[in-house]
Amino acid sequence: MATAAFDLIVLGAGSGGIAGAIRAARHGARVAILEPHALGGTCVNVGCVPKKAMWLAAELAEAQQLAGELGFNGQSVALDWPAFIARRQQYISNIHASYRKRFDELGISVIAERGELLGNGRVHAGTQDLSATHVLIATGGHARRPDITGNEHGIDSDGFFGLRAAPRKVAVIGAGYIAVELAGVLRALGSEVHLLVRGERLLRPFDHDIGDALREAMQTRGIDIVFGHELDQVSRDADGIRVHCRNGDVAGGFDCLLWAVGRSPNVTGIGLDAASVALDGQGFIAVDEWQNTSAKNVYAVGDVTDCPALTPVAIAAARRLMDRVFGGKPKARLDYRNIPSVVFAHPPIGSIGLTEAQARAAHGDAVTIYRSRFRPMLGALAGHAERSLMKLVCVGDDERVLGIHLLGPGSDEILQGFAVAVKMGACKRDFDDTVAIHPTAAEELVLMG
Ligand code: NDP
Repeated sequence: MATAAFDLIVLGAGSGGIAGAIRAARHGARVAILEPHALGGTCVNVGCVPKKAMWLAAELAEAQQLAGELGFNGQSVALDWPAFIARRQQYISNIHASYRKRFDELGISVIAERGELLGNGRVHAGTQDLSATHVLIATGGHARRPDITGNEHGIDSDGFFGLRAAPRKVAVIGAGYIAVELAGVLRALGSEVHLLVRGERLLRPFDHDIGDALREAMQTRGIDIVFGHELDQVSRDADGIRVHCRNGDVAGGFDCLLWAVGRSPNVTGIGLDAASVALDGQGFIAVDEWQNTSAKNVYAVGDVTDCPALTPVAIAAARRLMDRVFGGKPKARLDYRNIPSVVFAHPPIGSIGLTEAQARAAHGDAVTIYRSRFRPMLGALAGHAERSLMKLVCVGDDERVLGIHLLGPGSDEILQGFAVAVKMGACKRDFDDTVAIHPTAAEELVLMG
């Protein structure tokens, strides 16, 4: 077997792996990246990108209905799934091609094999053994299923992207990002949707006002939400899929069940023991604040570590790591505080920083909350009652803004700029001193009394 020497071997060509490989190559490193599946990992192939495409289609479906209510003549037309999916997949193919082009330009070796660490910088890949001074593990994660009888009757988010038509009646299990996003998409595209939640709230880690406002919005759209629903087992009969709750309730007739109960890191079969790479108590690869694992010159970024499972987080961590290792910036590392995120629900949600509950637990009476609920203009024109929600969590005499929580049309695009303000340490008076842009939804953030 041949041995090739690189400066860096990357396991996994998802968001973190690709960003790390490119940044290292730009610093002059000789890089190999190993990926047995499609380039781009979860985000590009079965995550953010196809999800956003489906969300945009769902937005158009909702917009058509609204247009009819506002006086546009003509019937709403249903989505032609195969035609739309062909466009979605073409968009993804274009991303694959742009990655390949960049790898070629930078001289990065792409090896379509699964990598297995052998220790001391050696990596087994198919029929070859490679070696490098540094190794980056960016193998990502996979959808989990609960360990109950009949779990095979459901699909997970990967399976969602295999659908070629809207299911007639679907049960979505979970209350996190994926559950509320895909439930919203399916409902807008015509499915009867039942969201089965084991707890008492949607998006439990988010500000409670957001979870409550989202529940209202989803119910208004006709989604049936059942809280306190602990699944006992799943079965299938002539009517379709049946879900059996621990309290004895049974619901049936589903032609699709979608598991959205969290994700687990991809840590098996990649030689972690051989390379002395340790896991943390939850099964993620343990890393310090510099992305170092327990093995010298072996690093990990992204969903395989216990960090927010967000593409931009993996990218930012990988780029800073490579700036540190190859770019002469010994202090470069990602600051994991104040990471903004958006949930592409209907309507969308944007959130950064402390929730009200977190702020009150940490700062007690020093917390001031500003809240605005208003009818966004387009919905109001159509006579809809739904209200957007904007909330500022401020702390101290100078009312430093430590949290922003948004729900309503445009929240997905509004948050990014305000996240810069939070990162810079803006206070409420800085918001007050900023002249509003009228008429917009975003202006509410600088007009709160
Ligand atoms: P999340 O961690 O967001 O949510 C998991 C949900 O599953 C929670 O509501 C949890 O309930 C519930 N749950 C867990 N176990 C069970 C069970 N046995 N039975 C019933 N319910 C259960 O995971 P997701 O899979 O939705 O998403 C994974 C991650 O991917 C997200 O955390 C996010 O970081 C990322 N992501 C980001 C997106 C974005 O940026 N827009 C979109 C999609 C995913 P409980 O609250 O009670 O724990």
